[in-house]
Amino acid sequence: MSFTLAIVGRPNVGKSTLFNRLVGKRLALVDDQPGVTRDLREGAARLGDLRFTVIDTAGLEEVTDDSLQGRMRRLTERAVDMADICLFMVDARTGITPTDQVFAEILRRRAKHVIVAANKAEGRAGEDGALEAYSLGLGEPLRLSAEHGEGLGDLLHVLMPLA
Ligand code: GDP
Ligand code: MG
Repeated sequence: MSFTLAIVGRPNVGKSTLFNRLVGKRLALVDDQPGVTRDLREGAARLGDLRFTVIDTAGLEEVTDDSLQGRMRRLTERAVDMADICLFMVDARTGITPTDQVFAEILRRRAKHVIVAANKAEGRAGEDGALEAYSLGLGEPLRLSAEHGEGLGDLLHVLMPLA
């Protein structure tokens, strides 16, 4: 049985970078039958031996960090409702922001299962931010670097028992 993973979080934390890494060129197949809307991209993901559907909450790019607009909330809620598992991405370099807290609240109320991922954690730059992510109260944060492909083995480990 396969599952659907939604990557959610405020703009610029690295959601699309992870999406692209998980989907690779296979997005081309999905493009023929467009995903849900332009704002939610759907792709066929591969990680180790796992195959699953991944959703990227795209279309948040123009939303500024300090205003959580209704559209951003609705888009995130839609992705959360479609997903079996939510990967809640935060930026390990900037630490937790008030906007992250709003996302955390949406996930606490709505998500079936949440994995917190502190991205941009390559090298030692993200250690403090990753620790700070504990304070979200959504479990132990994974340290990821979507750009450099680090932490994907740990993500696989967390996903495997849930698949
Ligand atoms: P999104 O808005 O959440 O989809 O974020 P993007 O995937 O578009 O990434 C936003 C910016 O963060 C881009 O400039 C990426 O190159 C950068 N980025 C993404 N992942 C990483 C990472 O692991 N480390 C670093 N240092 N930068 C990253
Ligand atoms: Mg994006």
